[in-house]
Amino acid sequence: MKYGGMIVDCTALAPNNSYDEPDFVKRRYYFDQPFTCASCNGLEVWTAVPPKWWYEVARGVYLPLLSFCRTCRLQEQSRRAEARRIHLEGIATKCH
Ligand SMILES: [Zn+2]
Repeated sequence: MKYGGMIVDCTALAPNNSYDEPDFVKRRYYFDQPFTCASCNGLEVWTAVPPKWWYEVARGVYLPLLSFCRTCRLQEQSRRAEARRIHLEGIATKCH
């Protein structure tokens, strides 16, 4: 399935507070964006569906271009979750 070229529904976007419109807003459609992971140098394509969902359904804030592949992002997420768990455990220990 090809996702590139999905039309941007500007009315569904969250308000843009920055001066510069992201590329996809200027072009009025989402497009597949190949990028190289800054961590493992793997090549990955950012398809149009996640940003369309992110901006129009989740009404997320504008993101800079992704710089990490899915695998590295998941690793980073679990690393942060683990750090948070340890942090919360530390707080819980202090309270007792
Ligand atoms: Zn990576």
